[in-house]
Amino acid sequence: MRILVTNDDGIHAPGLEVLEEIAHQLSDDVWVAAPSENQTGAGHSLTLSMPVRLRKHGERRFSITGTPTDAISIGLKMVMDGEPDLILSGVNAGANLGDDITYSGTVSAAMEGALAGIRSIALSQVMTQERPPSGDRFSAARHWGPRVIDPLLNTPFEPRTLVSVNFPALDAGQVRGIRAVRQGFHDYSRGSIVEGRDPRGQRYYWFGLDAIETTPDHGTDLEAIAEGCVSVTPLQLDLTHHATLDTLADCFGQ
Ligand code: MN
Repeated sequence: MRILVTNDDGIHAPGLEVLEEIAHQLSDDVWVAAPSENQTGAGHSLTLSMPVRLRKHGERRFSITGTPTDAISIGLKMVMDGEPDLILSGVNAGANLGDDITYSGTVSAAMEGALAGIRSIALSQVMTQERPPSGDRFSAARHWGPRVIDPLLNTPFEPRTLVSVNFPALDAGQVRGIRAVRQGFHDYSRGSIVEGRDPRGQRYYWFGLDAIETTPDHGTDLEAIAEGCVSVTPLQLDLTHHATLDTLADCFGQ
């Protein structure tokens, strides 16, 4: 099995190393094509206004001066010798739960993989201010990653779908299991935009990421994580809201 590993935190991110270790437990044929810099929040963006450059870090290890989507595209078309059987994206340092997903470079890299018709899984490690008792923030991802990926390898993926996995901010031994759940919704505090002045007196704005604590809906990724479980959420690239389609057809007299 040939595996392509990427992320959005960049080639030097500790979470990438964790995912490479997991990938090597599954196969000896592991390739890495990751952004050269941190691309958190890049979503599914593609670099169109400038060239991207490729740097070789090892026999099968490369960085790309672009977004996670660029990294997958270049990885598949320019770097790899043949198509991978599996794309793994992460392990992101931070949650990709609920509506985080549309901002997420980690999930978007897996979307790009799904568009290319390759089985793709995004993996994110929820992090809190405090480290778990072991001191290893990636403890849950490190130990539960292979347990989640293994069964997914023998499960059919529909075309244009992918799977997003989140690990709770716990030590592996504290994790209570794995749950297949739907995408939840959480309110971000848009008030967490900080306004300041740069050294030249120009005003700037800086986005924070503080989530308002809400009671997560039953059966969601947010609830699974809140209850100490690994969340596994299937996602589709078709963003059509099918229930509204008939309403709009009526609206336009179809
Ligand atoms: Mn990230």
